[in-house]
Amino acid sequence: MERSFDLAVVGAGIVGLAHALAAARLGKRVAVVDRDAQANGASVRNFGFVTVTGQARGEVWRRARRSARVWDEIAHPAGIEVLQRGLTLVARRPEARDVLQAFLETEMAQGCAWRDDLTGLLPSRGEALGALTSTVDLRVESRTAIPRLAAWLEAAHGVTFLRGVAVRGVETGRLETSAGVVRAETIVVCPGDDLISLFPDSFAQAEVTRCKLQMLRLAAPGWRLPAPVMSDLGLVRYLGYAALPQADALRARLEAEQAAHMEHGVHLIVVQSADGSLVVGDSHHYAATPDPFARDDVDTLILDEFAQVFGQAPPPVLERWTGTYASARGHSLIEAPMPRVRLVTVTSGSGASTAFGLAEDVITGLYDLPRQGAAA
Ligand SMILES: Cc1cc2nc3c(=O)[nH]c(=O)nc-3n(C[C@H](O)[C@H](O)[C@H](O)COP(=O)(O)OP(=O)(O)OC[C@H]3O[C@@H](n4cnc5c(N)ncnc54)[C@H](O)[C@@H]3O)c2cc1C
Repeated sequence: MERSFDLAVVGAGIVGLAHALAAARLGKRVAVVDRDAQANGASVRNFGFVTVTGQARGEVWRRARRSARVWDEIAHPAGIEVLQRGLTLVARRPEARDVLQAFLETEMAQGCAWRDDLTGLLPSRGEALGALTSTVDLRVESRTAIPRLAAWLEAAHGVTFLRGVAVRGVETGRLETSAGVVRAETIVVCPGDDLISLFPDSFAQAEVTRCKLQMLRLAAPGWRLPAPVMSDLGLVRYLGYAALPQADALRARLEAEQAAHMEHGVHLIVVQSADGSLVVGDSHHYAATPDPFARDDVDTLILDEFAQVFGQAPPPVLERWTGTYASARGHSLIEAPMPRVRLVTVTSGSGASTAFGLAEDVITGLYDLPRQGAAA
């Protein structure tokens, strides 16, 4: 039996759900189609760290700020707990402190400050010279937040979910699926890092590849972190810092002192869950089809940085997993491959942080509505 909607979204990861929300808020009848029985992609494998501070200057930063506000708006009604707020970005080297001091001079430093005294932020000082703190970032537990967000979209916004249904073809007004035809006036395709099933030429032309990350969950250490923690290595990855001229000196020193970390794209993010356990990562390896194997030497590099920053041995590892995301130059791929159809993929590993702002922009364009950028 054919079914008909105003908007059909392919993909029930955070990017697809964000588009469903933006359209549902306009009163559209929305269907979300996903081939998996439950969320299983990057959106449930990540840190759940909604990072505003350090996102690339300009539009990406604006979308991240808007996204953090939307997470705040929906968290309570959707039954999603915001587990941590802010950021503690620990500087271990004078060059890192220079980058952060320069960052604090920019417009992106809203809600940020420098702290020499880390009491209350870290259990012990480790090698820290001080830290940048922020109030604008937040953290959710993605494993539960994504299913709750989907359930709330269904219950409160009437969004229809077609799960276990693969989309095989897209044309204006019509999806060809493994469960028959779905008709929709507009279509948004959010396939994450499936770069081959739909619109492979668009992905090939934009030179999109895939990035594999290694992640760990550590046992509760007996202390609490009010905010997610990052360190020097993150300053050469996150473009809000890495694009500042001061980052060059830090990058040179890290290449000299932490060559293996740099080679494997290791940087440190530590977030804490409700039960006190810590989600710790990560690494970056790029390939069209990344292998699924988590290397112990790479995990050791991640845990080594943990030990340096926290000044203590990491707690026992409870879980290890890998995740992949689409990767290319630029924050995202947004295309209109045919009338009233959009292809949207975040290509910078920041979908949890930017999807809501991005989706509002895409839906606004799709329905020819006035853009609300200034209100972000
Ligand atoms: C380990 C890891 C840590 C990360 N940490 C963070 C973080 O802390 N903060 C942050 O902002 N970002 C983080 N990211 C990035 C973020 O998770 C991604 O940018 C985001 O989840 C991408 O969402 P998505 O909806 O595009 O993809 P996905 O979550 O992969 O969802 C895509 C969905 O599309 C479906 N699909 C694809 N093709 C079809 C088809 N033909 N038919 C039907 N269904 C289809 C898939 O089944 C899948 O469910 C991290 C990523 C990883 C891997």
